[in-house]
Amino acid sequence: MSAVLAPLSHDPSFAELLAGRPMLRMDASAGLCIEEVPLVRLAQAVGTPTWVYSAATLTRRARSLAAALAGAGLAAKMHFAVKANPNLAVLALLRHEGLGADIVSEGELRAARAAGIPARDIVFSGVGKTLRELRLAIAEDIAQINLESAEEVDMLSALAMSLGRTMRVALRVNPDVDARTHAKITTGRSENKFGVDIALAPALYARICALPGLEPVGLAVHIGSQITQGIASFAAAYARLGELVVALRAQGLGVRRVDCGGGLGIAYRDEAPASAQAWAGAIAAGLGGLGLEVMLEPGRWICGPAGVLLAQVVLQKQGTARRFVIIDAAMNDLLRPAMYDSWHGIVPVSPAAYVAATAPADVVGPVCETSDTFTKGRALPDLPSGALVALLDAGAYGAPMSSTYNSRPLAAEVLVHGADWSVVRERQGFDALLAGSRIPGWIGG
Ligand SMILES: *Cc1c(COP(=O)(O)O)cnc(C)c1O
Repeated sequence: MSAVLAPLSHDPSFAELLAGRPMLRMDASAGLCIEEVPLVRLAQAVGTPTWVYSAATLTRRARSLAAALAGAGLAAKMHFAVKANPNLAVLALLRHEGLGADIVSEGELRAARAAGIPARDIVFSGVGKTLRELRLAIAEDIAQINLESAEEVDMLSALAMSLGRTMRVALRVNPDVDARTHAKITTGRSENKFGVDIALAPALYARICALPGLEPVGLAVHIGSQITQGIASFAAAYARLGELVVALRAQGLGVRRVDCGGGLGIAYRDEAPASAQAWAGAIAAGLGGLGLEVMLEPGRWICGPAGVLLAQVVLQKQGTARRFVIIDAAMNDLLRPAMYDSWHGIVPVSPAAYVAATAPADVVGPVCETSDTFTKGRALPDLPSGALVALLDAGAYGAPMSSTYNSRPLAAEVLVHGADWSVVRERQGFDALLAGSRIPGWIGG
């Protein structure tokens, strides 16, 4: 198990945050830049709050994960977990890097196809795929459906037969390992809803092999997300999966493919997640030498560090005991702090604020919930009305977890490419917020 670094006794400084994030740079006159684009210019052109993604970072991370897999001797196919960032431009860019899509809904299937990802590069996961969704997946003839229960096995077999089709399927097993991550994003324990108990997998896999309409291709696991406590839980899961492959083959059942899931964490504050090389090494150790096709479903690791949420200070409110920096982004935009108590770096955009003296502040949004708090007691400079800040590592589970709570329109999304940038999702308009709502006539005028 790789060493778990002792947590910092203090939050990382602005300089430490930027040092670990090569796409960001503080320019003495232009202020904080993402690649070659000053964030102040994006705020002027597009407004705030706005999600800003770095194309170079997405490309670099996709390539370094691919290189790590190749370095471990694995000919692995990566399917990007669309739920981490379903922006069509992000999906299209990753498609150019050779990634397929791991989807969990009809909407994600449509997004992947709209981004140009061919059906043969799409894998469908999830515990509650509806008949309608399964029918569409069969009609599109996607690469593989990962089945998560005995009930779903029967459901898909009956559906495929009624359509006169045979669908490639993998069985998602729950290896009962503790990913040692936040309880809301751990998925590989026996008490979680995901996958089938690994002890029941041999009988169920045999059943899949016997049922009509299904072509079993292998097994899948995904033990959780934002895994940062070393490589041991991955290694244990892949070792158990490898043992299961051997056991199934000994029963005469064909297993040609394993889908190793996603979950490798990133450093938001001072976490020290395992490297991509260590992840690839754990896969090779547990599953190499079995002649398997290997698949991977990374999400956060690829896109999390590639994005920031750009926000503007509405006002600073001096409370009796605390200073509140109230920004125009809120929990409806970036939900992670409210939902998972997660920590995000917050860096001022102006060069003067970057070097100014700091004092503790709570950074909050305008939403009428106490949990609409991004951080408490953070060392920040004076940030008067109109000041800009960047919330870091917001490229995964940021925009896609947004809502319109408090009737706040969804923020715009921008993709930066060197000195160029494009709006890749327009800011939602207020008309769009009301579109679809109706007042029935019986309520009266
Ligand atoms: C969410 C999810 C992923 C991606 O997880 P990350 O932590 O973002 O890498 C991969 N596979 C499945 C089945 C998922 O549900």
